[in-house]
Amino acid sequence: MKNCWWIVFATVICCNAQENNSSPVLHAFTIIRAGTLIDGKSDVARHNQVIILRGNRIESISDATAAKVPDGAVVMDLSHATVLPGLIDAHTHIFLQGEEPAQGGYDVNILKYPLALRAARATVSVRRALEQGFTTLRDLETEGAGYGDVGIKAAIEGGYIPGPRLFISTRAISTTGGYPLEGYAPELDMPTGAQLIDGPVEARKAAREQLSHGADWIKVYMTHRSWVGKNGELVSQPTLTVEELKAIVDETHGWGKKVACHAYGGIGLHRALDGGCDSIEHGLDLDDAAIAQMLKQGTWYCPTLSAYYHDWAPADTPEGERDRKRAAVHEVSFPKALHAGVKIVFGTDIGGIPWSEPIAQEFPHMVDLGMSPMDAIKSATSRAAEMLDMQGQIGVVAPGAYADIIGVMEDPVRDIKSLQNVQFVMKDGKIFRNEIK
Ligand SMILES: [Zn+2]
Repeated sequence: MKNCWWIVFATVICCNAQENNSSPVLHAFTIIRAGTLIDGKSDVARHNQVIILRGNRIESISDATAAKVPDGAVVMDLSHATVLPGLIDAHTHIFLQGEEPAQGGYDVNILKYPLALRAARATVSVRRALEQGFTTLRDLETEGAGYGDVGIKAAIEGGYIPGPRLFISTRAISTTGGYPLEGYAPELDMPTGAQLIDGPVEARKAAREQLSHGADWIKVYMTHRSWVGKNGELVSQPTLTVEELKAIVDETHGWGKKVACHAYGGIGLHRALDGGCDSIEHGLDLDDAAIAQMLKQGTWYCPTLSAYYHDWAPADTPEGERDRKRAAVHEVSFPKALHAGVKIVFGTDIGGIPWSEPIAQEFPHMVDLGMSPMDAIKSATSRAAEMLDMQGQIGVVAPGAYADIIGVMEDPVRDIKSLQNVQFVMKDGKIFRNEIK
């Protein structure tokens, strides 16, 4: 009994720490002094601005000289920093962890890890995203973790764990022969990383199931395996037929939701567009007809460039040739789509890339391929918000928007890499990180 006070003392410390971590405080009024403000929508930055927040919303923005500061407001001095809207990564996988081949690759997740372990690691993924200034993610399927994203989203919204706003797509849809686990004895009935359907009836049923369990988006794999063809071109195996995809799109649009299609190129890409999908994911090999159709239909393009510079197989193997070809055609497609005026959103496919790497690594890839730094920032703020039907609510520092606000010490328009070093993060009016003194 003598040592009892130790236990009590330790418990108090532990609980306070947990509370501080997961429940930052929301003030009635907060003032942010911004040395430079990139609002996510305007083409030019403004200087010496004062942002007034009422609770979790932005109330007003004005020149520092004209600002009327409400009594009792909490003041955040970012007058030496650049202030931006919270960033949006429109293609993530919180339930993937880089899948090192030496650690069992993709399959080990599904075959050996209890769901609780995967959920615990997803909790770390979302925290990492938030700490890096990504206050919203569109998470494009759980890779065999079922409806785990519904739970993680609820845990964030309930204030139990820190994390970004999540737009989730639950299990994803492909066809027989269109998703791993693969390569096991045909006698075995293996689990798969996506829900496999054959025929429009099963396709519609899968969409209904996923939507009824909380999917904000439906994710469809329209291509699967890829290889270098006999003429040196990138070939991608198509999966769903146009009729199958149309059933999914029709059902999903009826629920007021949207469909994201993984498609590299060729037949599967054209079926994705003919089937009316809302966003093309990766789009490695966009031919002119595909670009014209995307413009006509207003299809979004989420290129995820970073993912294709990771884990190349040795150059003298078929896989190595394919890996290099994928990056090479992507480097042609992205500038073509950009100059044609296709609507481009920022997405990384992180999860496929380990969460220990910076999410903002995608920005310099976009800029290297011809996008201006300001447009790259917009692709991760106001443009992504538009795709998510959250225009004016997120991805912008403007009156009426949620107070999702970040700060960096450098000027990201001059050095886009500085977005890898976000030092102030506010989401929904609450401060989750502040290293700006
Ligand atoms: Zn992905």
